[in-house]
Amino acid sequence: MFRRIYSFVYNLFNKPNYDWPEEDQYNPLEKLSEVEPYFWEKKSLSEMNDTEWELLCDGCGKCCLAKRDAEDKQSVEFTNVACRMLDLNNCRCKIYEHRKKVIHDCIKIDIGVIKEVPRWLPKTCAYWLLYNDKKLPVWHPLITNNIETVHEAGVSVKNRAISESDVKNIEKHIVNWDDL
Ligand code: SF4
Ligand code: SF4
Repeated sequence: MFRRIYSFVYNLFNKPNYDWPEEDQYNPLEKLSEVEPYFWEKKSLSEMNDTEWELLCDGCGKCCLAKRDAEDKQSVEFTNVACRMLDLNNCRCKIYEHRKKVIHDCIKIDIGVIKEVPRWLPKTCAYWLLYNDKKLPVWHPLITNNIETVHEAGVSVKNRAISESDVKNIEKHIVNWDDL
């Protein structure tokens, strides 16, 4: 079963009653002044506070793609089908603060999710990289101090994903990108 499709079908028949405005595009790097410089090199994931944890996300949007266990259960198949709440221009959630009230199966990323086997997070994900003692990539916004570099490096879903609202047959959308 595709993880994100369940809530799509659910929401078709259970129209969510919400009138929140979509969140303005914000720059998470504005919070850099609140944290210790290069905190990701000094702290383990479990030692990070909420601000540091959120700053680690590079904004690629790949965790918001529908995916499922492969038949052999040894790997995960990704699609290019994004949650309908993902802004396909900036690859950020439109309703991040209250997403669980609208998308009931949206999963909060914690250590347990990072450790999942087979791997559910893309191999470029900063949480997965740090958990596996790897460095942040050169295009990561924390390294470049620029939230656009994840898109410029071609590792976000920008210009590659389609909203689940526009998909008829998800089986035709399984992808095998190098950065998944
Ligand atoms: S895959 Fe990882 S880095 Fe990319 S948006 Fe999701 S949590 Fe952030
Ligand atoms: S609700 Fe937001 S964070 Fe959750 S899967 Fe959808 S776009 Fe991603």
